[in-house]
Amino acid sequence: MSKTLKGLLAAACAAVVLITMLSGCQMPLKRYSISYTDTFDTVTVFSAYCSSYDEFSEAANAVHAELLRLHSVFDIYSETSSVYRLNSESKLESADKELIELIWLGKEYYNLSGGKLNIAAGSLLRLWHQARAEDVLPNADALIKAAEHIDISKVAISDDDIIISDPNLTLDFGALAKGYAADKAAEKAIECGLTSFLLDLGGNIKAVGKKPDGECWTVGIKNPYVEGEADSQILTAVKATDVSVVTSGDYERFFEVDGKRYSHIIDPDTFYPAQLYRSVTVIAAESKIADALSTSLFCMSLEDGKALAKSLDAQVMWVMADGICEKTEGFIEYEKK
Ligand code: ADP
Ligand code: MG
Repeated sequence: MSKTLKGLLAAACAAVVLITMLSGCQMPLKRYSISYTDTFDTVTVFSAYCSSYDEFSEAANAVHAELLRLHSVFDIYSETSSVYRLNSESKLESADKELIELIWLGKEYYNLSGGKLNIAAGSLLRLWHQARAEDVLPNADALIKAAEHIDISKVAISDDDIIISDPNLTLDFGALAKGYAADKAAEKAIECGLTSFLLDLGGNIKAVGKKPDGECWTVGIKNPYVEGEADSQILTAVKATDVSVVTSGDYERFFEVDGKRYSHIIDPDTFYPAQLYRSVTVIAAESKIADALSTSLFCMSLEDGKALAKSLDAQVMWVMADGICEKTEGFIEYEKK
């Protein structure tokens, strides 16, 4: 054997040993999970594949801190939140940039949905919130009066100041805040170095990366016709990687009067809960878009909704009030039970 060949062989062997040693040093990825109940009035579950508990814990703390921070901006019922101050005083100087961003998003979806998504409908939404708490229908005259104060054009932004020119108008970010927070919290996990995780903010799901075996995350979509939490209540499932899956439905926050169901998504044109669908599930790259769109579509006709979904490149499944499912062309189900 020539000297050069021997040298090459020795180098190759050394490289193989080095690669074996390096891969031997790599810790196997383990799945960790944690849940929180103190943000956005819902249960949040954060699951991730990490090489150690410490790595997971650092990311989970960053995610939790971000959710708490954003909750304290958008919670309309907490006297210390920015939105509470804005709603009470009809103005907010040097407002949080997140608040300004969500107002712009709200205005954009107001236009895209033909006024069906209206973050300025706080006065109307509050009456329904109260009605749900007391199990009593709101007074029809009170609804008509409240609806006189939902004109979103009365909400103006100038630099970082927000001015509302109708003192009876209030903002409600319930339709957008969870999706927005899911995107922001996911950014924190990515900053901590995580590449494979699922963040479930009460059904508002953000799936990042794939599982270590190369499989996508599987996200179940609830069957609105079956009560409860178990797997048997899953209508179908989708494969998800680097997308958000968000459902708006009438089956979690609702109340019944004389056997009729009144959900928490209100059609600003009728002042009453939208009744076209049992649920609308949206798959989109960003969670804030999926959240804005799912609430919008819940109030829109199927024809208008399909056109809007197509224009935004979102995949959607509508579960109609008669139980029939409608889907956009690219909505691919993983398994059906
Ligand atoms: P969830 O919060 O249950 O995930 P959604 O994202 O669809 O569901 O948001 C519902 C919330 O949005 C309601 O609780 C209310 O605060 C608010 N909301 C209801 N109807 C509308 C509407 N037409 N436009 C804007 N916000 C709405
Ligand atoms: Mg929504």
